[in-house]
Amino acid sequence: MPSFRPPAVGIDLGTTFSVVAHLDEHDRPQTLANAEGERLTPSAVLVEGNETIVGREALKALTSNAANVALCAKRELGASAFHKRLDGHDYPPEVIEALVLNKLWKDAKSQIGDFNQVVITVPAYFDEVRRKATQDAGYMAGLEVLDIINEPTAAAVAFGVAQGFLTRDGKPERAINLLVYDLGGGTFDVTVMRFERDQFTTLATDGDVRLGGYDWDQRLVDFVGSEFQRRYGQDPRMDETTASRLWRECEEAKRTLSFRSKAAVAMDYQGHHLRTDVTREAFEMMTSDLLDRTRFTVEQTLRTAGAAWSGIDRILLVGGSTRMPMVVRMLMDISQKAPDTSISADEAVAHGAALRAGILIAQGGHPLPFSIRNVNSHSLGVVGTDPATGRPRTGVLIPRNTHLPVTAKRTFQTQRANQKTILIEVVEGESASPGDCSLIGQCIARNLPPGLPAKTPIDVHFRYEENGRLKIAARLADGQRVLSHTLHRDNMMNQEQLDAWRRYIAESIA
Ligand code: ADP
Ligand code: MG
Repeated sequence: MPSFRPPAVGIDLGTTFSVVAHLDEHDRPQTLANAEGERLTPSAVLVEGNETIVGREALKALTSNAANVALCAKRELGASAFHKRLDGHDYPPEVIEALVLNKLWKDAKSQIGDFNQVVITVPAYFDEVRRKATQDAGYMAGLEVLDIINEPTAAAVAFGVAQGFLTRDGKPERAINLLVYDLGGGTFDVTVMRFERDQFTTLATDGDVRLGGYDWDQRLVDFVGSEFQRRYGQDPRMDETTASRLWRECEEAKRTLSFRSKAAVAMDYQGHHLRTDVTREAFEMMTSDLLDRTRFTVEQTLRTAGAAWSGIDRILLVGGSTRMPMVVRMLMDISQKAPDTSISADEAVAHGAALRAGILIAQGGHPLPFSIRNVNSHSLGVVGTDPATGRPRTGVLIPRNTHLPVTAKRTFQTQRANQKTILIEVVEGESASPGDCSLIGQCIARNLPPGLPAKTPIDVHFRYEENGRLKIAARLADGQRVLSHTLHRDNMMNQEQLDAWRRYIAESIA
């Protein structure tokens, strides 16, 4: 009897566009179109009364009802609520992400049948809090999140498969070093990877969770907006719906400028009409500092990886914004190499996620013949006191770019006799000052046995899983007694809240 295997599905949950892929009967990744027939679904959500609309129609509503449309919620993961209310209600950003996932899931089911297990991708540069928020979004959408994987890793895996390197007899003869440059709508990531025999190893990763095509759009918006204001004394950026219309016009013009040397933006506001011509040259000038920021990060990541351009075999371009000629030109300039164009900048990430789902689902069956090794993109630390100044200071436990999984142990001491609990503040970031790091949460270890003297040592183990999620364990240093603990996270929902949203989404979206 043939054994039933659930479909292997991967979701690239993007800041501006999301993509779903699955493995076909030959284990080849294929993109699934949404109900509207598009391979890319805008990650836009419209809330209007009892109706929640995701995708193209939500984006279209920007021109009539911008106030109730949520865009780029991914950029706000980790905050307690999205920056604006939608139809009078506050939504945590991960709930908006859950609504996007729910639509993608529903549309995929109508094509490949019922399933609920998926792999979701995250920017390599996402911190632990944003990784958890992404998993929570999957849960609230009604899904079972098998794993989250890094977007550049997913793209590299898709590349390896497309090149035929991953068939049992197609192994490359020597190690191949890849640089993945991912410039999407809202985030930027650069990752150096090595592909050897059957293993993908990340050597270094860096990025910016608030830099993407959207910032290029804003430069055009400001250019046209201030021109309008100069001419007519009215600023179209002041009214939300008009500003959204202007943004859509500018984003369109930006795309045109990738293929033509000039584009026009037309704008009507308060009875005035303005048509502004923009040349590619002018556009490149007004955004050159944004491009410079990505160049700087690329060079820095290369150094961190201990690599030189001569040792990089392929440059993979991922993300819609890499279609801008200035990106390719800059990379050719600094590397003296032509970027690889064999993978789809839009779909490679989702394809890699589907391949990862395939590995997880097939384990015990026929696993796909490769493995993946990652690094942490931020240093893990605990907050202590600087003995010299008495000020709070970050004590690094696991430096960034360490191979995962990894465990670090730190021994703390009780301060008083008979102390019942200890509190440890856990942060991620590169600054010695905890205030400049991102707070993961407060770990409180309880049930310390009564009668302990002051200065009793307590061992705390911090473990990053392969996907960058954190696990903590605490025990008495000598007696091996395990202490129960809880990690209090700011801005994060508890299980009851997650379940309530999960029910709400299941019921409200038919
Ligand atoms: P994300 O993964 O962050 O959602 P994508 O990889 O889907 O992003 O890329 C979306 C971004 O790519 C948007 O900012 C979009 O404007 C930009 N983009 C898409 N096509 C082009 C193009 N032809 N020229 C310039 N930018 C483009
Ligand atoms: Mg992306």
